[in-house]
Amino acid sequence: MSSLVTSNTTLSSLTDEQQLILNNVREFVQTEVKPRAPQIDKTAQFPHDLFKRCAELGLTGLAIDEEYGGLGQGVLMEQLVMEEIAKECPVLALILDAHLLSYRLINHFGSKEQKKRFIPPTASGAQITAMASTEATGSTNFAEQQPMGKRDGDGIILNGTKLFTTNSDVAGFYIVQGMVDGEFVNVIVEKGTPGLETGAIDHKLGMAGSSTGTVRFKNLRVPKENILAEHSDVQDASFALCFLNISSISIGLAEGVLEKTKTYLLNRTRNHKPLAGFQVVAHHLAKMQTQIELAKSILERAAKLYDEGRPDVVLTFMTKAFACEMAVDVANLCIQLHGAAGYMEETGIARYLRDAKCNTIGEISTDIHYDYIALRMGLPIDTSFPLFG
Ligand SMILES: Cc1cc2nc3c(=O)[nH]c(=O)nc-3n(C[C@H](O)[C@H](O)[C@H](O)COP(=O)(O)OP(=O)(O)OC[C@H]3O[C@@H](n4cnc5c(N)ncnc54)[C@H](O)[C@@H]3O)c2cc1C
Repeated sequence: MSSLVTSNTTLSSLTDEQQLILNNVREFVQTEVKPRAPQIDKTAQFPHDLFKRCAELGLTGLAIDEEYGGLGQGVLMEQLVMEEIAKECPVLALILDAHLLSYRLINHFGSKEQKKRFIPPTASGAQITAMASTEATGSTNFAEQQPMGKRDGDGIILNGTKLFTTNSDVAGFYIVQGMVDGEFVNVIVEKGTPGLETGAIDHKLGMAGSSTGTVRFKNLRVPKENILAEHSDVQDASFALCFLNISSISIGLAEGVLEKTKTYLLNRTRNHKPLAGFQVVAHHLAKMQTQIELAKSILERAAKLYDEGRPDVVLTFMTKAFACEMAVDVANLCIQLHGAAGYMEETGIARYLRDAKCNTIGEISTDIHYDYIALRMGLPIDTSFPLFG
């Protein structure tokens, strides 16, 4: 499957430096990540050691500008790296994704001073970061969302709780989003600030090893230096870029589980013939490979448009919706094709489905992405979410 046209087209357009980065990532994934992935899933312990290795390899600052300590690589390169990691350990890619999401928000909403202060520790991986937006009323239910704070002189006093925050109890700082005096604001809350409490949820369906939990504020004062520029325009292209990383995770995940399934079916026999040679089974594999290549093509197109300075937000939304649903379907069918072995955790196939499900929900559910696409098609969609402003 390594000789597929789309994959080769992408790789042949990489510079020598990019090819070297990708080779290093592949080696890292095969020698250090792959052996740890089942254990991370079983123990649900945050992989501090692997995050540190990602930082040493420059992956915590891959697409961050060199002036802020990153490698200054493009969006496409970041997608290829996410995809490689997710083939063996989707949760490590998710942890990186949540970390980079905070960078994108500071890069988008922050002043020069805020970028200088908060982006370098993000790029170097010295601080893990998190983005806290979801509330009990729902992540996109802005009509019923309670104010999370009020202005106090030139600062803001925060009160309230954010739910399901990835990297919740390991972050050095949080980008917190919510309503303050009728405005949608983004603020930076640093670990150790009086009034901040964090906690992690012990059990979830998948993505075990990522810390997902609550971030609570009790009369927490945010100084003016930590308030990012006011913006109601969340549909900005640089913000929508976040959705590409989660798409790459889904694509890598689907590639990883399909490759394992292909190997299994080539070795498992019926009447002394490999199961992969039975036409129904072979067609299942071929169809899944086709779906993956379609997702890779749309992702590559969307990423290249960003790198060329011509971002297409609708295409980004289409990529997220398609890639994340595709990965669930692929992981589900791969369990089926393993028979009972696929149902047993020991074979390491079931975790791909548990992990895949996260991505049709996280970073705004697929339904909302289709809402946006429908709206851009001119359909009379009724919504109050700022993405549709
Ligand atoms: C593992 C994990 C990690 C996460 N990490 C973070 C994080 O780091 N930071 C953060 O802020 N959040 C995080 N989230 C939360 C995530 O972003 C939200 O769960 C997600 O956006 C869905 O919001 P909700 O759970 O409030 O669902 P709801 O908004 O209650 O929606 C429930 C269902 O109704 C559908 N629905 C809602 N509104 C509409 C509508 N108008 N039209 C049609 N259908 C609709 C949704 O698609 C969904 O299927 C994480 C979630 C998970 C599972």
